[in-house]
Amino acid sequence: MEGNGGEVEEMSSATKQRVAAAKQYIENHYKEQMKNLLERRERRNILEKKLADADVSEEDQYNLLKYLEKKETEYMRLQRHKMGVDDFELLTMIGKGAFGEVRVCREKTSGHVYAMKKLKKSEMLRRGQVEHVKAERNLLAEVDSNCIVKLYCSFQDDDYLYLIMEYLPGGDMMTLLMRKDILTEDEARFYVAEIVLAVESIHKHNYIHRDIKPDNLLLDRHGHLRLSDFGLCKPLDCSTIHEGDFSIESNSNSSKKMDPSAPKRTQQEQLQHWQKNRRMLAYSTVGTPDYIAPEVLLKKGYGMECDWWSVGAIMYEMLVGYPPFYSDEPMSTCRKIVNWKTHLKFPEEAKLSQEAVELISKLLCSVHQRLGTNGGAPEIKAHPWFNGIDWDRIFQMEAAFIPEVNDDLDTQNFEKFDESEHHTQTSTKSGPWRKMLSSKDINFVGYTYKNFEIVNDYLVPGVAELKKKNTRPKRPSIKSLFDEDSESSSTGYVMPPKFG
Ligand code: ADP
Ligand code: MG
Repeated sequence: MEGNGGEVEEMSSATKQRVAAAKQYIENHYKEQMKNLLERRERRNILEKKLADADVSEEDQYNLLKYLEKKETEYMRLQRHKMGVDDFELLTMIGKGAFGEVRVCREKTSGHVYAMKKLKKSEMLRRGQVEHVKAERNLLAEVDSNCIVKLYCSFQDDDYLYLIMEYLPGGDMMTLLMRKDILTEDEARFYVAEIVLAVESIHKHNYIHRDIKPDNLLLDRHGHLRLSDFGLCKPLDCSTIHEGDFSIESNSNSSKKMDPSAPKRTQQEQLQHWQKNRRMLAYSTVGTPDYIAPEVLLKKGYGMECDWWSVGAIMYEMLVGYPPFYSDEPMSTCRKIVNWKTHLKFPEEAKLSQEAVELISKLLCSVHQRLGTNGGAPEIKAHPWFNGIDWDRIFQMEAAFIPEVNDDLDTQNFEKFDESEHHTQTSTKSGPWRKMLSSKDINFVGYTYKNFEIVNDYLVPGVAELKKKNTRPKRPSIKSLFDEDSESSSTGYVMPPKFG
């Protein structure tokens, strides 16, 4: 192991990394191909069902086929085209993260609007976040759920990774809570129920979020909630402090330890400080610890139930107006969380219902007593506070608040960002090689992903919608529509094979 074996050891680990990267690349590639194939079949089935319908006239049948052909061609074009940042027009900035930014953008050829999240590779490598960012990409690509932000594609250039997601114009829950202060129990019930369903759906895929908090809960145009920001969780780095620092005894003199000259703030001052700084903290690299479960902070091993703690903390904030363990200083929040038994209090003024207090207390508690630890989401859904919630239909019902959204590009539900820092529209490299991976990118192999299939307008329209013009040349056959190589015949040119 030591001495002259060291170099060999090092080489073999680099090779191992390469092998693992290649393996992941191949696996992703085949997974994607398989998925495409299944989806094509599904589309064919839908079409055949429609055509089998006796009411469809020959002309309508023709129009349906024509429409599908057009869509399949467009879809294939997207599938084969190597996406890059210059395929998008970058518009308003709506979020600023520790690793980059989020912007509304428009795909140049289709005109579709998306949200683009840009992550700086060097920052992620420096902070050891590579695994996290892969997890985010994998989760978004694997989990197809109503309550999770949809990913259309991901790609990279020399400096950045990009996620192209659906744009959710309703803003995030942090903004909503800052605008509303507190929610009624009915309003909170709606959002908490949707959060429970979202968490349930990622747990079903064996993912733990660990960083569920208001700024990671986004609202769609209709006010329904989607969970986002996976894997890039930014748990507070507690490695510099020791477990003793969390104990109640050290609590009293801890603020002195941090800054001996700092006078102790009153509760009220701490709250004001927290309110003023929450946005800044959300954009910082550490993030806020307010919603993190004690077992995660203590790094003693944790499971899915840590997400239910976060749900409890968010529910508390919705009803009380601030999170249960807020402080003017993140480390002090951590201490309060770890010592939740002494710090969890329900203020009289908040006038919470008995059921609400009961549910929150069963979420903000030790792992063994926590609701959801043994019984999962159903245990939580069955709590009396949720009485009256129609779990199967909540996403189809009217939301507690319907956001004001005037058009596709409206960003009024987001904070305004200073754009004075000039951003470049295109990547520094250009030409056909601009998107080729350089060897140092081995860390990010397998990141590239495409799923434009789920672009919302890809729904087979009803026959009535198709009753338009159309002089018919030659009727396309179903078979040609679904042949793997039909695109070359329908568009007249053959796309080059896809790499990387
Ligand atoms: P970070 O890892 O930096 O927290 P997020 O993915 O949480 O990054 O994005 C930061 C902010 O950008 C979010 O809090 C939200 O306000 C906004 N945002 C992110 N993704 C979207 C999206 N798909 N649609 C609308 N807004 C988004
Ligand atoms: Mg976030």
